[in-house]
Amino acid sequence: MTNNSTNENCFNFNGRLQSLTANSAQVFDLIVIGGGITGAGICLDASSRGLSTLLIEKNDFASGTSSRSTKLIHGGLRYLKSLEFGLVRTVGKERAILYKNAPHLIIPQNLILPIYKNGNFRKWQLRIALALYDFLAGVQKNEKMKILSIDEALVKEPLLKKNELQGAGIYSEYRTDDARLTLEIIKTSLNYGSFAYNYIEATSIRKENEKFIVSTKDYIYDKSFVFTAKQVVNATGPWTDDLRKINHLNSNQKICLSKGVHIVLKHKDFPLKKPVYFDALENRMCFAIPRNNCTYVGTTDTIYTNSNKQEPRATISDIQYIIDSINNSFNIPNKITPQNIISSWTGLRPLIYQKNKQTKELSRKDELIIDNNNMISIAGGKLTGYRIMAKKTTDLVCEKIGIDIKCQSQRIKLSSSNTITIENLSERKKNCIKKLFELSLTEKEAENLFHTYGHFTHDIIDLFQSNNYKNIIEAEALFCLKNESTYSLVDFFLRRTSKLHYSPEKINTQINLVLPIFSTYLKLTKEKEKKLLEELRNHQIILTKFQK
Ligand SMILES: Cc1cc2nc3c(=O)[nH]c(=O)nc-3n(C[C@H](O)[C@H](O)[C@H](O)COP(=O)(O)OP(=O)(O)OC[C@H]3O[C@@H](n4cnc5c(N)ncnc54)[C@H](O)[C@@H]3O)c2cc1C
Repeated sequence: MTNNSTNENCFNFNGRLQSLTANSAQVFDLIVIGGGITGAGICLDASSRGLSTLLIEKNDFASGTSSRSTKLIHGGLRYLKSLEFGLVRTVGKERAILYKNAPHLIIPQNLILPIYKNGNFRKWQLRIALALYDFLAGVQKNEKMKILSIDEALVKEPLLKKNELQGAGIYSEYRTDDARLTLEIIKTSLNYGSFAYNYIEATSIRKENEKFIVSTKDYIYDKSFVFTAKQVVNATGPWTDDLRKINHLNSNQKICLSKGVHIVLKHKDFPLKKPVYFDALENRMCFAIPRNNCTYVGTTDTIYTNSNKQEPRATISDIQYIIDSINNSFNIPNKITPQNIISSWTGLRPLIYQKNKQTKELSRKDELIIDNNNMISIAGGKLTGYRIMAKKTTDLVCEKIGIDIKCQSQRIKLSSSNTITIENLSERKKNCIKKLFELSLTEKEAENLFHTYGHFTHDIIDLFQSNNYKNIIEAEALFCLKNESTYSLVDFFLRRTSKLHYSPEKINTQINLVLPIFSTYLKLTKEKEKKLLEELRNHQIILTKFQK
């Protein structure tokens, strides 16, 4: 359980090469492959139990499904429909733990669920379902569900279509930023001695003398490294079966992929007051969630068999389905059209495969798979259940390597919430906003910065002042480069700050401020600068141009 190198350099461009080289001479207890929420959770759980742990991610952290979800820490209302009571109970209890450990990043939200004649729920059904949900999910007294009359529902959300409206339910969900949650979990694991690197891909796995030998390719230096461990966990989500194949075993299909699309609209075009969980077309349900001067809406659920898992694309028919569902359910002064879309994201749900079942019929449960050479894969599940999945997986890892240490992750606060508690949250936020006001940020901008970086917002303010920057985004860029393993403009604008989703119109001006800071810190050549810009432009196209 000892590793002789220190991990202070693995998130730091200047020390990364040295750190990787030192680690290729170590034997780890555990190598986690995949830096989405599942791998992140396992890395934190294992390292906090004292296991020497290495996590590798082939792209950026959270660049797979874990930055493309609906961004809700669910109580699991929809599982009631499939009678998965155990799942509702587990995820409901879980979100209370997650909220306690990261209150700046996991934000309680009341959702409105309108009831229509011939909709998915009758009023009496919804009353029972929500009461059951409150009970199973252990919802706090002040957050318990309410049933509203038609008039009350329209006061809460005037955009609801009046025709055939019969009332609404209000229930509680928690909103997060999935990519930042993943990153913060990984950053927290570093405090327990883990090593975590993005842009390094596992290319082959073999077993020698009872140890796993993992060959990798590093995309920052274009070099190969080989790492050794007593145990390997495959946490590659949509790539689970691919990694099982490179593990040199004849593996059967375990995963089936379902594509889900969200679109982002300017809030002025879809001015919802409250998040709504509404009846979409084809007897499905969608979320519409106001956020950062925008409203995002989704999602679809269609089988995905294309080999491009890195950048699944939304099609025109996916987009039209969401737009038609909005126009069908809300009274918006000007109907939504594809021209209103400012951004979008498309993710792949890694679901446990069951023969002859449609994706929407498949359970969102997780499953552990153990291959013949003892590699453990963990697949399926939800963002919300990541900690429980991590516990289950790490328990098995401990059993396999003969260690008996109990999980303690329920008590671990994420590092960005270090000094923030549920009790002092509003006071800490107020202080932060006050300081940011003095630097000429608007209230919304200040609030957003606090929810993004929590405790570390003060570090960004310090960088802003000590460098005499003109715009806070310069300090954000330097902070992310120094502390968050940021290597590209897409990492920064998409997953560290979400600006590509919620304020894409500002990106062109912001690039001019941020690129020189990237260039100096990462010692970029002109050619490399051009590449980063091209990659960003490509992403702008992917998020706004849809396939036939
Ligand atoms: C549309 C949609 C909406 C959703 N909404 C919600 C929600 O609101 N709430 C909720 O709780 N859940 C939600 N989910 C589910 C949740 O997002 C996923 O269950 C979760 O993000 C899966 O995480 P993961 O870490 O298993 O996979 P991923 O996030 O995809 O991570 C796997 C990682 O492995 C890496 N990788 C692959 N191969 C290799 C290799 N050879 N070497 C190194 N790295 C490799 C990939 O690059 C990737 O980053 C949603 C899912 C979708 C698609």
